[in-house]
Amino acid sequence: MTAPGVFWLTRDFRFADNAALAAACIDGPLLAVFLLDPVTLAQGAASRWRLMQALRAFDAALRRRTGGVGVTVLSGAPEDVFPPLLQQTGARRIHQSDWPVPQMQAQQQRLRGALAPLNGALHLHGGHLLTHPHRVMTQQGTPFRVFTPFARALRRLGPDRPGPDAPPRITASTTGPAGISLDSVNLSPDMHSGASVLEHYALPSGEDAALARLEAFFTRAAPYSSARDRPDIDATSGMSEHLASGEISPRRLWAITALRAEAEPALAGALHTFLSEVIWREFAWHLLLAFPQMPRAEWRGEWADFPWRGANSGFTAWQQARTGIGLVDAGLREMRVTGRMHNRVRMVVASWLTKHLLTDWRLGLAHFADSLTDWDPAANAMNWQWVAGCGPDASPYFRIFNPEKQAAQFDPDGTYRAKWLAGWNATTAPHAAAYYDTLPSSWQVPQPWVADGDAQRLSAGRNAALAAYSAFKSNDASP
Ligand code: FAD
Repeated sequence: MTAPGVFWLTRDFRFADNAALAAACIDGPLLAVFLLDPVTLAQGAASRWRLMQALRAFDAALRRRTGGVGVTVLSGAPEDVFPPLLQQTGARRIHQSDWPVPQMQAQQQRLRGALAPLNGALHLHGGHLLTHPHRVMTQQGTPFRVFTPFARALRRLGPDRPGPDAPPRITASTTGPAGISLDSVNLSPDMHSGASVLEHYALPSGEDAALARLEAFFTRAAPYSSARDRPDIDATSGMSEHLASGEISPRRLWAITALRAEAEPALAGALHTFLSEVIWREFAWHLLLAFPQMPRAEWRGEWADFPWRGANSGFTAWQQARTGIGLVDAGLREMRVTGRMHNRVRMVVASWLTKHLLTDWRLGLAHFADSLTDWDPAANAMNWQWVAGCGPDASPYFRIFNPEKQAAQFDPDGTYRAKWLAGWNATTAPHAAAYYDTLPSSWQVPQPWVADGDAQRLSAGRNAALAAYSAFKSNDASP
């Protein structure tokens, strides 16, 4: 019996530039394992739902390459599942792409402990990031805390070169355990009717879809630098959920984009801006590695005592997209229906929660983590802290987005709001389709959208936030 090459599929659902997969194929006939482990099962509902789409697409693509052998799905903690698998198959090594979140690292540590008596080993491979975070450091050898010098340093060093292209054929192992049938796996039973809604609006999943989406983006990328802030225009790439599930590696995305910019100089400026956004993703991971508590604790220690409000009725209304503020509710409804939300609107809804409602950013972060198909632990935490004012390189606390002004600037004709808000009666777009109202009633919030976002309410919220901030500052300054 030939021992298999064991590949632990995590958030790297791709064949190109997948060093872990390539290394496993060198070890022996491939045994690709996906685990229903505690770290995976603890992720948000929409994120698990998206993971399932990625898994299905990868399984189908693997079967095409192997002549019918797909992914082996197993259930349990890695330290319980892998040692018997190694004993049964004679394999000695497990290859995994590094997804450096603290919970996964703790799992890896326990797995290493369990493999040691068997002379087994876990090998981690890069590919989730543009480069190893330790390569991009300040001159003092410390992690960057500010984006612009980080981006400059990264561009100077350049990202790592992507690894080999996708192998057209793979020899599969037939010696592994039977595994759970993919058809019987439901990674997100808690989605209830939400799964069928999301399915309806889902973007295609998988590596081929990621590449096709990137190519399609290039054809409409020319106005990206100015239009990327407009939720009423389809101006951004939509690559975030492909990156979050590893259907394309950031370094491959970078290489393809750089080639395109060279070939089409008219796009060079737009694609430069696009790659800067990709560097924001990298910066988020750089920060998470330097400060693993980032999803839980304020980056700026002095903010730890800020008197955030806990769950409150305003927060519930916010979760249910019933704040009465057009742009805020439209964004939250877009996320509820599609699992996505435009970046500009994410900033506005996060600002509304943390500033106007003075509510703890961790509550908003958790709601996003449960609702976003592109959930990314680093980007989510960095951006929530950025908006709340407690993160590195953060927007200052007194910068409070006015949703009405934001709407006037970035959704000037009301197209975006009209799309998501039944009853939104802007004279400019009175008859636009309100998708939200066409959904099954179990997916609706209890009442239709009613506008009460008058100017007085906006300024009262702003004043309360500023007052809370100055009271906090003066307490902070007192001996
Ligand atoms: P494009 O404009 O086409 O950008 C290209 C890529 O750059 C994106 O796919 C993404 O990988 C990266 N990127 C763009 N903006 C940012 C940013 N501000 N921070 C980090 N990376 C960025 N993004 C996530 O991927 N997952 C999250 O969980 C997430 N949570 C967020 C929470 C808040 C409160 C805010 C304000 C932003 C959050 N973002 C998150 C960042 C951003 O909103 C999304 O990456 C973006 O909307 C994805 O759309 P796109 O792929 O079309 O972006």
